[in-house]
Amino acid sequence: MTETSFTDFQAVLKRCGIDLPSYQGNDINVRSPIDGVELARLAAQPAAAMPAVIERATQAFEQWRLVPAPVRGALVRLWGEELRRCKADIGHVISREVGKIVQEGLGEVQEGVDICEYAVGLSRQLHGKTIVSERPGHRIMEQYHPLGPVAVITAFNFPSAVFAWNAALALVCGDPLVFKPSEKAPLSGLATFKALERAIEQFTAQFGNQAPQGLAQIVLGGSDVAEALVDSPQMALVSATGSSRMGRSVGPKVAARFGKRILELGGNNAMVVTPAADLDLAVRAIVFSAVGTAGQRCTSLRRLIVHRDVKQVLLEKLLKAYSSLRIGDPLHNDTLVGPLIDAAAFAAMQQAIAQAFQQGGKLLTGGQRLLEQQFPQGFYAAPAIVDMPAQTAIVQQETFAPLLYVLSYETLEQAIACNNDVTQGLSSCIFSNDLREVEMFLSAAGSDCGMANVNIGPSGAEIGGAFGGEKETGGDRESGSDAWKQYMRRTTNTINFSRELPLAQGIHFG
Ligand code: NAD
Repeated sequence: MTETSFTDFQAVLKRCGIDLPSYQGNDINVRSPIDGVELARLAAQPAAAMPAVIERATQAFEQWRLVPAPVRGALVRLWGEELRRCKADIGHVISREVGKIVQEGLGEVQEGVDICEYAVGLSRQLHGKTIVSERPGHRIMEQYHPLGPVAVITAFNFPSAVFAWNAALALVCGDPLVFKPSEKAPLSGLATFKALERAIEQFTAQFGNQAPQGLAQIVLGGSDVAEALVDSPQMALVSATGSSRMGRSVGPKVAARFGKRILELGGNNAMVVTPAADLDLAVRAIVFSAVGTAGQRCTSLRRLIVHRDVKQVLLEKLLKAYSSLRIGDPLHNDTLVGPLIDAAAFAAMQQAIAQAFQQGGKLLTGGQRLLEQQFPQGFYAAPAIVDMPAQTAIVQQETFAPLLYVLSYETLEQAIACNNDVTQGLSSCIFSNDLREVEMFLSAAGSDCGMANVNIGPSGAEIGGAFGGEKETGGDRESGSDAWKQYMRRTTNTINFSRELPLAQGIHFG
């Protein structure tokens, strides 16, 4: 980064409301994956500071839960407006900090705007059911009440949107939140959080003192800080996004204290391409979902399961498309693939390719490091395609890089079995214009993933649907549909408006 662009970046941070000196320290060294240049050195909060943070959130809950939900929605509306206003700046911070191309950085902030709009509508629709009673003069109803403080722990690859998904729903549902961003992307988290702080100020100016101190807090640090939140019985819900390794540690701890959790963990997403597919459409979807965000989306396409009759022609088209990918500085408007997050991610990709080779794979393209002269501290990888003889051990692992394994099949049953025969269960898709094949893939005997798409890749979900996956992906859902219910507690109320006291199940007592 030149001196001018470094100064420009400081100006962007300032416009995002981040006063860097107040966060300065020697614990978190934030480097841009674009060129390895240090962006900031931040202080981490000690885990010992968490009880006070948690106590503030607990106090805030007492007040916030009593604010009418549509008024809570007004705060989230203001946050959405702030995010829209700062979209270019926050998007730029994301690109600098995690290496997303400009369009993807902007798209991530837009997801925040979208979930805020969704949550504002939801703030007038947090309704339960009225249920008929078997007893005369009785009525049963359900209510949803605020749950309590929510811990939001996020991964590096969606440093803004995943916080927004959780926070927008938590706030309209009446829950305060404590946000622990990834230590690899604290600036993007801070920029998104600062927009919320400004919204709280505007809300207070418009609605009076209804938003309590401690309604939204951010804590910077590593897994020790996150663990202090995870272990606290005062955190009613822990929403943690990251690797299955992290989930394996967090899940049992929250369960041991009977807390609620949303785990959004690793994926190993597949696409089935049948002989009835529009191959050109499939190629476009493969390229976007396998190389977009340099293969660092939880929903990135990692396994291509293609019918043997169309494999050759599909691969020819795909290799042609890969040969014209524009890989480089993500801040240039025409770049499609930016860098990996760090050297360790590049090493993991190399290791996976070597293991695939040992397990009978054939590298068809890519894998090598690019632009090393220009960016000695940036890790740019040529997106790789490896033809595999079978779904071997390495194919069953999530490698967080642009690495696509190709597998072939003969019958649709084999393809579906292959899609399902991994420990993760996030996203999947089929490319086919044959109604029977499509319906089979979507049926109870079809894909076992949380998301199963048709003629569209596995990545790039909209916020309206529930997002998440089965098995080692965690089993939970966030974002749209009825995911909001996880941020609330349900009560069932039976009301007797008769003068009798009949018992259920016809029981006579006394
Ligand atoms: P990571 O697991 O290394 O870290 C994620 C977060 O968890 C960080 O904030 C980290 O500090 C915290 N953490 C790590 N260990 C912890 C522990 N033992 N206890 C409490 N907190 C802990 O993940 P990452 O490298 O930042 O992100 C990449 C991973 O995230 C990939 O596996 C990807 O598939 C997954 N991911 C999943 C989704 C989803 O919605 N399913 C979305 C984005 C990313």
